[in-house]
Amino acid sequence: MTDLHFEQGPIRPPSEAQSLLLRLTRNCPWNRCEFCHTYKDQTFSLRTVEEVKKDIDAVSEIAKELKALSWRLGEGGEITANLVRFVLESPEGYSDAFRNIALWIYSGGKNVFLQDANSLVLKTDHVVDVLTTLREKFPSVERITTYARSKTISKKSVDELRSLHRAGLSRIHMGLETGYDPLLEVIQKGVTAEEHVIAGRRVKDSGISLSEYVVLGLGGKKMWCEHAVETAKVLSQINPDFIRVRTLKVLKTMPLYERIARKEFILLSDKEVVVEEKLLIEHLKGISSRFVSDHILNLLEEVEGKLPEGKEKMLAVIDQYLALSEEEKENFRLGRRAGIYRFLSHLQNPELHNEVEKAIKRIKEETPGGIETVISELMSSFI
Ligand code: SF4
Repeated sequence: MTDLHFEQGPIRPPSEAQSLLLRLTRNCPWNRCEFCHTYKDQTFSLRTVEEVKKDIDAVSEIAKELKALSWRLGEGGEITANLVRFVLESPEGYSDAFRNIALWIYSGGKNVFLQDANSLVLKTDHVVDVLTTLREKFPSVERITTYARSKTISKKSVDELRSLHRAGLSRIHMGLETGYDPLLEVIQKGVTAEEHVIAGRRVKDSGISLSEYVVLGLGGKKMWCEHAVETAKVLSQINPDFIRVRTLKVLKTMPLYERIARKEFILLSDKEVVVEEKLLIEHLKGISSRFVSDHILNLLEEVEGKLPEGKEKMLAVIDQYLALSEEEKENFRLGRRAGIYRFLSHLQNPELHNEVEKAIKRIKEETPGGIETVISELMSSFI
């Protein structure tokens, strides 16, 4: 087994679970957002095009070695389930690089995600060079995506973005978080609502698919209403291909935690977050985005659909939750976070319902802080 390796960063969007992770920069050049701890205490650095190309070569060599291994194991040169199992379970101990590439090719080898938090801070020509090399080495790749900050994109021209699109960049994931300026300041996002709109529209004009992330609950008790309404306004001006929501969960390692301790920021309850989400959806106007709740932190995963036709259905799901008795809401909240339920309809399953009911009884008798502590701990474990 050869000692081949390549560098990978810590995170990717949930929708990129099957993607090859290719690191263009390390960490986050901004690193000040109050609700984020991913790169805290990590220094940002650019990687050279040569470094990234070496990684692409390493991926290509690993793919060749896996193919040779497949022939040796009688799998006909294909990356089959047997081959993947062998690599994952082999006592020879294949490296993470081999495991990752085996899984990537097995799942189609079609998607690549460029890391870390803001790859497009690199010169456009450098990213074009990387994209071109990547597509030459891996003609099977169909989708290449990345994270980027609105601020960074707002400084790039549509022509620059078009050249990235021509070179193969298919989608940009941007953290909009909120469209409310005073809240953008509080959370230190380093961008204005206007810059969000400029950046979002430029991406759309370039032909690159756009995914905008919104943090549910980010306004807290003070700004929840403005957060929902103003975010909907910004999104309605951008019309991104995807609006993805993720519910706020604050850990001690996040600067926002200190604001909570000082009582400057008061968290919303689950029910209040759902009301905020309803207001956000109600105010989305004249757009054709797909609304997606694909983050495990979200209470109501089935609030998903294509706008405008899916709007009523999404609102109906929210109303269905809000109409539950307080007891049933509690049952669903715990069941969902414990992985017993996925959808509201699972409340109708007597076996599952009973299991959650028993757990609630036990927690109330035995756990200091009760249900809220347990739900909070479960949510922390998802980050
Ligand atoms: S820009 Fe993104 S990665 Fe960087 S601190 Fe903000 S949320 Fe975190």
